[in-house]
Amino acid sequence: MSLSLETAWQAVVDGRRLTPEEGEALLGEPDLFRLGAAADRVRRRLHPEGYVTFIRDRILNYTNVCVTGCRFCAFHRPPGHPESFVRSLDEIFRKIDEMEAVGGTTVFLQGGHNPDLGIDFYERLFSAVKSRYPHLYLHSLAASEVDHIATTSGLSLSETLLRLQQAGLDSLPGGGAELLVDEIRRRVSPRKISADRWLEIHQVAHGLGIESTATMVFGFGETPKQRIEHLERLRNLQDRTGGFRSFIHWSLSTRWTDLAATVPPAGVEYLRLLAVARLYLDNFRHLHSGWVTEGARLAQVALDFGADDLGSVLMEELVLAATGLRHRYHSEEFVRLIRGAGRIPAVRNSRYEILEVLS
Ligand code: SF4
Repeated sequence: MSLSLETAWQAVVDGRRLTPEEGEALLGEPDLFRLGAAADRVRRRLHPEGYVTFIRDRILNYTNVCVTGCRFCAFHRPPGHPESFVRSLDEIFRKIDEMEAVGGTTVFLQGGHNPDLGIDFYERLFSAVKSRYPHLYLHSLAASEVDHIATTSGLSLSETLLRLQQAGLDSLPGGGAELLVDEIRRRVSPRKISADRWLEIHQVAHGLGIESTATMVFGFGETPKQRIEHLERLRNLQDRTGGFRSFIHWSLSTRWTDLAATVPPAGVEYLRLLAVARLYLDNFRHLHSGWVTEGARLAQVALDFGADDLGSVLMEELVLAATGLRHRYHSEEFVRLIRGAGRIPAVRNSRYEILEVLS
């Protein structure tokens, strides 16, 4: 065993915070199950009750018009394209009604960077949704959308976020992070916000009381050091604000995109990164297992590698679906999956508060 791997395991045993070098060494640990067992011990310490939570919510992709053109995206269409759309309020209301009819509590509005939509559009949309459904929780807009709204409307970041909050925005999803390493971002999404800007948006949001989630997409050909750099930047911001509720990572899906020739990461890489993230992100309470991108079977195994949450059950997601991902599950399947892993299913809200234990 190399010296750094040895010191990394010593840090895990001692419960000491891992350095970036130790994190990188753990990514190279050949014994996957040793990593999983260590991550699972952390998960048990944080969540001794044994629940695996999930949320009933719905993603509403309100527009696919986007001028940013990320190379890994098969969802966007340029302005004026015959397949472009902006959902009407009536369409959005109908989808929320459907979601509420089956117990959904949260809406996740997410779309492209549409040059015709400024702050007024979002204020009208959020206010209309909140006045018709006052109890509904709006977990909406990736940081890159917030940046686009600010730029399009000539507003500062804090003004933009404050106005969105006043119109009804409750929390921010972690979309648009991909990999928080500019060298990779310049290659796969050269017109998207920088890593610093993504972090700044979340920092300003946290300062206004808008909590968020942190995400990571891997498989762009990045090095282990760059994967750890991503985790390190999230951990640093979390130390300063405490505003991240969870960490969610998934493997790159590239069908129908400019990166179609890229070989997607293997399942073991997903598990390895999850376990190291659980050990590295000592200031994050919740880590997700991603059934949308990884499929139900791997997501179930991931529950033994540090994950305590299965994410969203009522997906209506078009961004990943455009790359060929077609996983669809219902609450009953989630419950079976969780019980099959020897854990207790529980429904949560966006704040990760338990609403119902399905024992
Ligand atoms: S990932 Fe988002 S920002 Fe990038 S092209 Fe697709 S819709 Fe636009």
